[in-house]
This record gives sequence, C-alpha cells and structure tokens, in this order.
Amino acid sequence: MQFIKLAEYYDALEGVSSRLKMIDIMSDLFKESEPSEIDHIVYITQGVLAPPFEGREFGVAEKMAQEAIALATGYTKENVELDFRKSGDLGKTAESFVSKSKLKRMNSSKPDVSEVYNSMIKISSISGKGSKEQKIKTLANLVASSSPVEARYLIRYPLGQLRLGLGDATMLEALSVMENGDRTLKEELEKAYNICSDLGLVAKEMKSKGIKAIKEFSVTVFKPIRPALAERLPTAEEILEKMDGECAVEQKYDGFRCQIHKKGKHIEIYSRRLERTTDMFPDIASAALKEVHAYEAIFEGEALAYNDSTGEFMPFQETIQRKRKHGISEKAIDLPLKLMAFDLMFENGKSYINEPYEKRRAKLEQLLEGSDTIKPSKRIITKSAKELDDFFSTSVTDGLEGIVAKDLKAPYVAGARKFSWIKLKRSYQGELSDTLDLVIVGYYRGRGSRTEFGFGGLLCAVYNETRDMFETVSKIGTGFTEEQMQELSKTLGSIEQKSKPARVDSITEPDFWVYPKYVVTVKADEITRSPMHTCGIAIQKDGTKSGYSLRFPRLVGETTIRRDKSPEEATTTKEIEELFSQQKKVRVSDK
Ligand code: AMP
Repeated sequence: MQFIKLAEYYDALEGVSSRLKMIDIMSDLFKESEPSEIDHIVYITQGVLAPPFEGREFGVAEKMAQEAIALATGYTKENVELDFRKSGDLGKTAESFVSKSKLKRMNSSKPDVSEVYNSMIKISSISGKGSKEQKIKTLANLVASSSPVEARYLIRYPLGQLRLGLGDATMLEALSVMENGDRTLKEELEKAYNICSDLGLVAKEMKSKGIKAIKEFSVTVFKPIRPALAERLPTAEEILEKMDGECAVEQKYDGFRCQIHKKGKHIEIYSRRLERTTDMFPDIASAALKEVHAYEAIFEGEALAYNDSTGEFMPFQETIQRKRKHGISEKAIDLPLKLMAFDLMFENGKSYINEPYEKRRAKLEQLLEGSDTIKPSKRIITKSAKELDDFFSTSVTDGLEGIVAKDLKAPYVAGARKFSWIKLKRSYQGELSDTLDLVIVGYYRGRGSRTEFGFGGLLCAVYNETRDMFETVSKIGTGFTEEQMQELSKTLGSIEQKSKPARVDSITEPDFWVYPKYVVTVKADEITRSPMHTCGIAIQKDGTKSGYSLRFPRLVGETTIRRDKSPEEATTTKEIEELFSQQKKVRVSDK
C-alpha cells in the first residue's frame, strides 16, 4: 500500500467522531493491506515503532522536526516555528509548507507504507556523534518527496502525536470486521493480544493465517502477558460470598509489579505497563537466574525494598528511590529488594494461564524451593470472614497495603479486571477506601499567585472500556505543591490540543485540552452525582441528566504523574459506578 493511501485513511479518520464509523474505516484499511505490511500499519496507527516492551524510541524532538520541514521545503527554521506557534500542530504546519514548497518535489516515485516504516526505524537507530543532523536529513528526505497530506502524518508520527483518536480496542474490533464482517471475533483477538501484548503480531497472524491461528495463540517467553488486575469489595463477607465461600488470601505488597521472563541464562523483567525494566532490577534478575528452578519460566511478583536487619518491608517511597537511573548497583546494596512472587504463567514449554490458581501456585512454590531473594507471597486459605479480617489486620500492622483474595479455581485472566482477584485495602474513615487513577484531559490557567506557573488545576477523566472513551469525573484545583504545578504545566504544555481530543467525552470546557496520556492518583471523600461530568451519565428519576463526580479530590503519592500506568489502565467508569453503590451500602449499614 502506498503511504499516501494510508494518509488518506488517517485523514478520513480525523474527520469522524463516531466509533462505529472509525471501526468501518479501519476495517477497510486492514482489508486493503497486505499480510507483509499490516503489522507496520498497526504500529504506525498506534504511534509506535514496535510494541512498548521493545523500548524503541524515535529520538526526534519537536525542534528537529521543524528543521526537517524547513530543509525539505526551502524555508527557514524561523518561518516554520512561527507557523507552528499559530497552528499548534506541527503536522499541519508541515502540510502547509509542503503545499507551498520552494523546492522541486524530490522524487516522484511514491513510497509504500513499509518503506516509510523502515525509514523511521532507520531514523530511530541513528546514534552517536552527528546523529541529530543525520536524523533531520533522513526525515527531511521523506518530507521532500511527499504530498502535503502525507507530510502531515510523516511529521506527527515520530513525534508521537498522530491525533487519530483511536484506541487498541477499536483496532481489535476493526480486525474482527475485516475477517468476519462483524465484531464477533473481538474476544478471541483480545485474548491473543492479552497474552503477547503485540497488536502488530496479532494483526499479521489474523491476516495471514486466519482465526484458527488466533484461537491457538500461545504464551511466548519474552513477549509480556498483559497483567491480570484486581476488583475491589469493601468487606471480608462480600469477598467470601463472591468467591463461593472459600478463597486464598495473599498479602498485598506496595512496590513495583514485575513480570519476569527466563530462558536459560537470559532474563527480562517487564513493568505493569509492559516496559522492559530489566536494568532497574539487577539483583532480582540475578536471583531469577540462580533461584528459579526452571530452564524457561514466566512469573510475576512485586519487588520492594527490604530491611535485612529488621526483616521489614519498606514503604513504596523507599522502593521508588531505586527508579533513579544512576547508582542502581550501589542502591542495590543499601536497599536490597525482595520479589514477593504471586503467580506463574509458563514453565518449560507449558502455558499455565488456563490452569486454576491452586495449580499455578503449587508449581510456583516448587520452582522457588529454597530461594532467598524471590519468595512466594505469604498467604492463607480460608472459609471464614473473621480469619480473612485478621489476616488483613496483621498485614496492615506489618506495614503492608492490605490483601488480595484469589479465587482458587480461576485461570490467570490476562489484561482484565475480574473478580478472580479482589483487593481489600487500608481505609481511612470518612474517605473513599481506595485511591483512583485518573487521566488528565485538560487543564486550567493559573490565576492570582499561580499565574507564574501557568497552571491552576486539572480536568480529569476515567476510562470507559465499552466505549473506549475517556469520560470526565473531576476538576482538581487544590493541593498542588509549587514543584507539582511547574511539572504539570511543563508536561501538559507539550501535549496541548487545539480542540477536544476525539476520545474525550466532556461537557466541561477547560482552558486547554490535552491528549489523554498521563495518569494521576487521586483521593477523594466521596463520589457524588453531578450534571457537570460525563462519567456514567444517565437520566435520573427527576428527569435531569447527571454523571458522577468526586468530592474534595486531591493528588496523592510521591510522584505527580503515574508513568507506570497507561490511560487505559486508569480507573474505569464501571469501577466508579461500583464504588458509588458500595458507598451507599456502607451508609445504610452504618445506620
Ligand atoms: P492496585 O494497583 O491497587 O489495583 O492493586 C493491584 C496491584 O497490587 C497489582 O498490580 C500488583 O502490583 C500488586 N500486588 C501486590 N501484592 C499482590 C499479590 N499478592 N497478588 C496480586 N497483586 C499484588
């Protein structure tokens, strides 16, 4: 497929806001593509070069893209910069400069999608002395031989700003429509995606081998599995009821989730967001080599700092110091980490994800026999609410976050929040018992003393999985430190949008819209009904329309932006609805 064809599809996508229409356009695009290029099309549409666990970065900054546009069209950097200040979109600026280029179009042969993709790979791999100039030149060559609409996407792509308003869920549905004419294959496709985290690979398999290959898709070492997530319930009784009267109860550790892949002497560690974090945990990696009795294994646990002399786990703030890039090995000495392992997904050629929890756990314990740095999480199996509560209280007294209850019979549910894991966390009276992870979709200008930071508050949203949209739930206007205001205004300024992004649903208008990219952790007193927000919006008994909002929201946590969470991993609309109804129940029972 010629790149110009892809650019025309993208142009059509930008013009629609209906998700069904987007699925139609994408499925036509997939139908028209070849098996050898569909993975490239998927990555370009996702705005990446490869799945995130491969950690491939473009290494192209805005200034470099401006220089490339200038070089390709015979204008000065200053001309380009001035136009960009007005348009706020370097893609549009590129489009307009190409349409009025002072230079002859370099090459009349039209590049195809894979050629463009490979040039981007080339750009990303240029390093060392003079690499900046070389990157600019290669990008300028691409732009110089492109049409205006192609230039728009050639510039947006390496900047990670495609603005198509399209999530992975929509692409999975489009693949189903491509194959079957309807959305019935979505679930199978999603399952395959959840165990390899590589949408390009799923699309390629589907296109070249059909649905049979997707159904037979298996776990592979060094392709991270999308992590299982926990639901929440407010009491031990409700947890036991949901678990049919008996469950395992594990301590809940507050550190870094690590998914460890081992094959012979090769170890890789992936974060909750499936980024490769092996270099951050040298001691865990070497323990995985020595202590895990299997040639091949994929298992999961929480890494946290541990005080060897007192035998206590340290709070998250201590563990997070390890995130500093420098001095990791010195830190490893004064802050040794333990990995509390809680699940096993693969061992010596055999996938365990469809095996029941008890079987996975037994195998995990067997693999870790006699280990020291990597330990199985502490747990009990119980039928009694009192015993569950006591285990919870002891865990909290030991400085842990709470417990995670686990269904003894459930498989490992990759990539989904299901009641096979239920968390119970410390709660503070008068407050919602859990924090919420919200996606920033807009922000407000600073007023009064905050003017100097250019920042006065956030507009935040939750994720609606069914609609694949972000629905607003709260404005946050207080409780920011000066550093936080500075950080937020700088970070958000770089992803500002001229108008409301396609995947955001909002009635409230912020001073600036931003692309839904960053997640913050928020605590609030209560969830209330509000006509100002779109989260869970519905017509009420009195005929008015209202959604949910938060009372007294404030940021919490050591880090302002939760870079370990993607926007799709934020709290969901469904969770807010559940928390709202649990809140009502608690009040009724208080009385
Ligand atoms: P939350 O982030 O509050 O939704 O809680 C789920 C997280 O708890 C998981 O992503 C893990 O990182 C962490 N966790 C800590 N201990 C356990 C455990 N024993 N079982 C499962 N998850 C755990």
